[in-house]
Amino acid sequence: MYAEDDLIPISALSQYTYCPRRAGLIFVERQWADNVFTVQGKHVHERAHRPEATNARDRHVVRGLYLSSARLGLFGVADVVEFPNHDPITDVTIVEYKRGKLTPRRKIEYEVQLCAQAICLEETLHLQLERGCLFFALSHRRVEVAFTAELRELVAYAAQKMHEMMQTSAVPRPQLGPKCRGCSLRTLCLPELSAGRNAATYLQRIIKDDNPVPSQSRKTGKQA
Ligand code: SF4
Repeated sequence: MYAEDDLIPISALSQYTYCPRRAGLIFVERQWADNVFTVQGKHVHERAHRPEATNARDRHVVRGLYLSSARLGLFGVADVVEFPNHDPITDVTIVEYKRGKLTPRRKIEYEVQLCAQAICLEETLHLQLERGCLFFALSHRRVEVAFTAELRELVAYAAQKMHEMMQTSAVPRPQLGPKCRGCSLRTLCLPELSAGRNAATYLQRIIKDDNPVPSQSRKTGKQA
């Protein structure tokens, strides 16, 4: 069991699942940089996190609910938790808001985050949740996520690794891959350098990317 001072944010687990180095840069080194995706994501969560409770026809809907788990050492906020308006309270639904659409690359990261929230809620309410939902703001689409034994194991593994990282302050080395393309920390992380590309080649690429040659000039060879 973890003490309250040792709890880590649930969001660290989804960052770890996306990329362990990214989690280390954010939660150990306290570095952050926004890109268009992170800014849009923040707006979606700000709306969903407004602490309030409303009643739908057959549900009591709570937004911005604080969650924690002493067993896994986690804390966070659930965007939405829907409680049925009847006893016993069995079919509680936890919903995590996301900005864009579900892509195969981000799927497991989202599922780990939602399942970690569910485990916290289970510990608080002493019940078992079979499934929860991801809600995609742009498409207004809900996707159900089953909290399988494998997914729960992944959550426990990511929590353990993040606690180890916080204790040792050892941030993993970069692993250059497709995930780096959409990563807002790329210019802080510099994964190209650790992938064996030398600094000169890397700088040339950055300069070229910042000054693309206009298509007309490419054909004629003339400067624009
Ligand atoms: S740039 Fe790539 S390796 Fe670096 S933190 Fe982002 S995803 Fe991870």
